[in-house]
Amino acid sequence: MPGHIFGRSTRGSLPVAAEGEGCYILDTEGRRYLDGSGGAAVSCLGHSNAAVRAALHDQLDRLAFAHTGFFTSEPAERLADRLAAAAPEGIERVYLVSGGSEAVEAALKLARQYFMEVGQPGRHRVIARRQSYHGNTLGALAAGGNEWRRAQFAPLLVETSHVSPCYEYRGRAEDESLEAYGLRVADELEAEIQRLGPETVMAFVAEPVVGATAGAVPAVPGYLKRVREICDRHGVLLILDEVMCGMGRTGHLFACAEDGVAPDMITIAKGLGAGYQPIGALLVQGRIYDAIAAGSGFFQHGHTYMGHAMAAAAANAVLDEIEGRDLLQAVRRQGARLEALLQERLGQHPHVGDIRGRGLFRGIELVADRETKEPFDPARKLHARIKAEAFAGGLICYPMGGTLDGVRGDHILLAPPFIISDAELDELVDKLSGALDRALAA
Ligand code: PLP
Repeated sequence: MPGHIFGRSTRGSLPVAAEGEGCYILDTEGRRYLDGSGGAAVSCLGHSNAAVRAALHDQLDRLAFAHTGFFTSEPAERLADRLAAAAPEGIERVYLVSGGSEAVEAALKLARQYFMEVGQPGRHRVIARRQSYHGNTLGALAAGGNEWRRAQFAPLLVETSHVSPCYEYRGRAEDESLEAYGLRVADELEAEIQRLGPETVMAFVAEPVVGATAGAVPAVPGYLKRVREICDRHGVLLILDEVMCGMGRTGHLFACAEDGVAPDMITIAKGLGAGYQPIGALLVQGRIYDAIAAGSGFFQHGHTYMGHAMAAAAANAVLDEIEGRDLLQAVRRQGARLEALLQERLGQHPHVGDIRGRGLFRGIELVADRETKEPFDPARKLHARIKAEAFAGGLICYPMGGTLDGVRGDHILLAPPFIISDAELDELVDKLSGALDRALAA
């Protein structure tokens, strides 16, 4: 069975990962793979980080788990405090879960409960964007606009409105300024709120830099600010999903801080635990928490492993590494270098339509024709060929195919560890461009 079902189906068909060493994963046959995408934007510190390993050993020696129905724990409290302190203005409360989808589910349920508590029970509708992925559980999948992931589960998904993404490469008209484009697409949100009736709309959900569905598509300047204004005008909560783009991936701990926007809620995961433990978090404005505290006093939600002490210890150690080794600065520096290398090597490539992204979060959109932006025939499965060629050549990258806002297309996502060196960046771009050419020749 294809996919990620372990046991008989994967044994023999996939290499067995045996060891990690900085930016590399080694398999049991001794092959080395440069981790150019951190798996799926997870392994921000690379593999086998000594400080995180030590912190995990230390926590395990003290306590692995105590149920949050009875106890809090020192690592969970410490993590919550430092995330709230680092987050955009007004974010005061932190709800620790085990991954990205759980964080998004919690956000949607918290938004709904908030409106129940403040006497606006009519608010239940969610608006999101066509180019988005918010997770695979039913609530998160319903919010996301990723057609192929949603299709067969459609009858199980609550109705969600999907508006245009902020997707400059294909969305902006030739004679339109960046700013005018950003405001135009943001205003679609307002039109949709009006159409649905503002008193029925609960939340707008968006990724500040779109990851898995589109290959690192950042919002243009001004877009998110306008979205914030529109949400405020209509009393709609703004939930920014930073599961992929957050925790330093773009060069700042929170990508939305680069846009000067403070959302009502932020979801994070992936880089938070850096792959050392499964962990996610929902960060919430104090006033939302306060409304519930003053009302029922209890968020009607929860999971067995929330606030897990080992997971929180890993996340604290990851944050210690990011702070102690000045890794946000490294992301900005190496991100600029990666962008320059990609431009130099692939900027004029006849089948590279767009190179985009922020920090160490970069995307490449592939096209059959640069002039017309015509994508490749999906039957060719170019993304799958690139992935296979890159992997055979010892590079892990994250090519995806699918609907890029109404257009079928292929893109490659790069999200290497924050510790990547100059030589490793050279190797990444070298291996990637070789894989691309071999895949195109096949
Ligand atoms: N949100 C975004 C933006 C994501 O990229 C992902 C995963 O790729 C998720 C949510 C879901 O996270 P998880 O796979 O940890 O459930």
